[in-house]
Amino acid sequence: MTSSARPLLNRRLAEFGTTIFAEMSALAVRTGAINLGQGFPDTDGPEEVREAAVRAVRDGRGNQYPPGPGVPELRTAIAAHQRHWYGLSYDPDTEVLVTAGATEAIAAALLALVEPGDEVIALEPYYDSYAACVALAGGTRVPVTLRPHEGKFRLDLDELRDAVTDRTRLLLINTPHNPTGTVLTRAELAAVAELAVARDLLVVTDEVYEHLVYDDAEHIPLASFPGMRERTVTISSSGKTFSLTGWKVGWITAAPALLTAVRSAKQYLTYVSAGPFQYAIAEALALPDRYFTAFRDDLRAKRDLLATGLAEAGFGVHRPTGTYFVTTDIRPLGHTDGVAFCRALPERAGVVAVPNAVFYDHREAGAPFVRFAFCKRTAVLADAVRRLKALG
Ligand SMILES: *Cc1c(COP(=O)(O)O)cnc(C)c1O
Repeated sequence: MTSSARPLLNRRLAEFGTTIFAEMSALAVRTGAINLGQGFPDTDGPEEVREAAVRAVRDGRGNQYPPGPGVPELRTAIAAHQRHWYGLSYDPDTEVLVTAGATEAIAAALLALVEPGDEVIALEPYYDSYAACVALAGGTRVPVTLRPHEGKFRLDLDELRDAVTDRTRLLLINTPHNPTGTVLTRAELAAVAELAVARDLLVVTDEVYEHLVYDDAEHIPLASFPGMRERTVTISSSGKTFSLTGWKVGWITAAPALLTAVRSAKQYLTYVSAGPFQYAIAEALALPDRYFTAFRDDLRAKRDLLATGLAEAGFGVHRPTGTYFVTTDIRPLGHTDGVAFCRALPERAGVVAVPNAVFYDHREAGAPFVRFAFCKRTAVLADAVRRLKALG
C-alpha cells in the first residue's frame, strides 16, 4: 500500500516528469513524420567494430562481470586516444574509468563530487540529464545562458564569473555544445580555466562530440590548460563518435584522487557494464585517423544540406561548428513559441524537431529556438528539407 497523500516520485525529481523526446518520438510514429528530434544516427557504426563485438561474445571475452574500472584493453585504448589526439597523458590503471555511457559518467561525477547545498554552474541550454543529476546529488544548479550573437550562441565570460559564489563547487561544461552546436574557442576555454583555478573550482567537462567539429573550430580539452589537469573530470563516450549509441560505452579521464572519488559512486550505480562491447570499442578507438576525419567530413556535408535547407525554408539558422544538431530561430517564420511549433510541425510538415526551451531554466530565453538533428542518411535529410520548404 502507498500513502495517497504523498506523491510517488520524490521531491528531488518531481520537476522532471517525462522527457520531451518521448512525446516527440511518439508523435513521429503516429504521424509517420521524419524524426529529426532525438539525436541518434539512422545507420550503424563501422562494420569491423560490430564484428569485434560479435567475436568478443563468441570468444567469451566480457560475458561475465568485467573489472570495475573497465577492461584493461579499453582503458589502455582510451589513454592512447587522449595522448594521440590531445597530447594528454593518463595512466590507464589509475586515471581512466569506463562507464555506462557518458550519462552514467555525468551521474557518477555529480553524485561523487557534490554535497547538498553546493552550487553547480552549467551552460544553458543544457543536456537534459545535467539538471536531474544535480538535483539527485542535492545540489543547486546555476545556469549561465549562452546567447545568440553574430550567428552563434556565445558564452558571456563576465556572466560566468558573476555566477560563481562561495558555494560554487563545480563548473559543468559541455563543448562541442548540445543543442547549440557552439564550440568554445581557445580564448574562452582559457578564461574558464583561469576562473576555475582562481576560485578553486572542480570542472566536469562533457566532450562527447569531440570529433565532430567543423570549419575553423577546434576541440581543445579543458584538462589541457594550465592548472586544470588536477581539477578536471573529462567525460566522453563511444556512442556519438562511432554511431553506436545503443552500446553505452563511455569513460572518464581524471587525476587519481578525482577518479577514485567518481569510481566510488559509479560502483554502486551499474558496478560494471557492456563487457563484450568494451573490447570492441578498444578496437574502435585504435582506428586510423582517416576514420575520424571521414566521419567528420560526412557530418559536415549533412550539416550543410540541412542548414542550407532550413535557411531556404525561412528559418533563422545558427550554423553549428560542432555536434550533429542545428538550432534554428522560428521568429522569421512568424512564430515565437517553440513548444507549440514542434507539437504542430509533424502535422504541418511531416518532420519532428525538439523545442530548445526544454533545455532551459529561463524558458523565455529558449522559447523561439528549435533543434534539428542531422545524423541521418542524406536521402532522409533531403526529404525533410523538401517537406520543410512547403511550410513557407
Ligand atoms: C548523447 C549525449 C550524452 C550521453 O552519452 P551516452 O554515451 O549515450 O550516455 C551526454 N552528453 C551529451 C551532451 C550528449 O549529447
